[in-house]
Amino acid sequence: MILTGAGISAESGVPTFRGPDGLWEGQRVEDVATPRAFRRDPRLVQTFYDQRRAALARVEPNPAHHALARLDALWPRSDGRDLLLVTQNVDDLHERAGSKRLLHMHGELKSAWCLACDSRMSWEGTLLDAPACPACNASGTLRPDIVWFGEMPYHMAVIERAISRADLFVAIGTSGNVYPAAGYVDLAREAGAHTLELNLDPSMTSPRFAESRLGPAGTLVPALVNDLLENR
Ligand code: NAD
Repeated sequence: MILTGAGISAESGVPTFRGPDGLWEGQRVEDVATPRAFRRDPRLVQTFYDQRRAALARVEPNPAHHALARLDALWPRSDGRDLLLVTQNVDDLHERAGSKRLLHMHGELKSAWCLACDSRMSWEGTLLDAPACPACNASGTLRPDIVWFGEMPYHMAVIERAISRADLFVAIGTSGNVYPAAGYVDLAREAGAHTLELNLDPSMTSPRFAESRLGPAGTLVPALVNDLLENR
């Protein structure tokens, strides 16, 4: 079970969340990543995510994303020896690298959600002043399919079941500030898994991992994948 965060995409040029100034791309999270912010100023929030979506065209997966896709391609699929990659990221770099056994627990920039009919649909363009919902034809009802603060992350039951059966739990490039993902190391430890963190700097959750390796994901992840495949 592998959990990734914004740090894995940093070397691709996607800024992390709580950079040195505590902002996400110049915005306070309270202003762009909560349901309240969307009710208060929908145009600001739509514009923010439209810009993030557009920026994906200017970045590419890095060696860490490619290494995890290689692991997915070569790792067994049998019951009891499976693999699951869970990302907190809303970018599409894991799938562009080729990962298939992948869940986005915080949603995806390239997905829209209709608040009228509850449909989710892949979305490439802008959502500000978007056309009517292609599924139900309602107007002005599409929002970014992103899990904002205060909302329930996706796929929680599947993720927690995978952790309860895991013998290895790896967290890559995540600060340990955002729950429930930050608590997954504790579930994994309770389940008897080896817990390994790969991060540029010590994180909030480092003391709760059995093992931490410090360095850039673009170097540490390919080395880990080589080890896992050699000792499979
Ligand atoms: P975070 O931004 O809070 O923390 C990033 C972590 O990555 C830090 O601990 C940092 O030390 C580490 N890091 C930075 N560069 C690294 C590198 N080259 N190699 C390895 N580690 C590196 O990220 P988070 O814990 O994922 O929480 C942020 C939330 O914001 C998530 O829920 C996510 O949905 C959202 N977000 C997503 C993206 C994205 O999709 N790429 C970007 C920013 C924020």
